[in-house]
Amino acid sequence: MSESERALEKRACRFCGKTFDFDEESSIYQDLCCRCAEKKFPLAFAVRKRIQEYCGTSAAGDVFTEKHDGCLPDSMMSDDLMVDIITLFKAIGHVVAEAAGLNEDQHTVIVEPSYEDSTWWIVTKNPPNISLPEPARSEIVLFDYVKAWHLGWNKSEDDVEEMLRGWKDEIVKSIREARLVEDAAQILKDAKISLLSSS
Ligand SMILES: [Zn+2]
Repeated sequence: MSESERALEKRACRFCGKTFDFDEESSIYQDLCCRCAEKKFPLAFAVRKRIQEYCGTSAAGDVFTEKHDGCLPDSMMSDDLMVDIITLFKAIGHVVAEAAGLNEDQHTVIVEPSYEDSTWWIVTKNPPNISLPEPARSEIVLFDYVKAWHLGWNKSEDDVEEMLRGWKDEIVKSIREARLVEDAAQILKDAKISLLSSS
């Protein structure tokens, strides 16, 4: 299909019924206009936008719902898979942290990537002071580990949104209850984590 033919494809949004431009190469949603996607699935929409920003591409290979052979969709792959996995988890981490009320100056996302094992990732409320023998534990508001593969694929939009909302709610709870995330504190301590993988 040529560029001009693609540009002409119109589809009806399954929520509002309005017609939207569908582009096979860059549209993330098959049957949703952007307005509805953002309204119905705000977190998932924000993560996808973030990934597109980071990858510097309009490619829509969707990490959550598209079937892919590796741990990431082809459109997200550069020549360094570890960097790509960091990109994915950072996109998620920043979006859920911001949704939980921590603006970009108020949180850090630390990712320890793996393509064959679980990638673990941590959101801290403030940039961690790694010169301390042990990070300030109360600042760790989220810790999770998951295989990059298992984030996708073929999930429904509702499942994706629920998964992201779960992480957001964890952060909100951690902040509210000043709860310690013990595992994360220990991992950071053991790993003597460098900040190479965070920003
Ligand atoms: Zn719509």
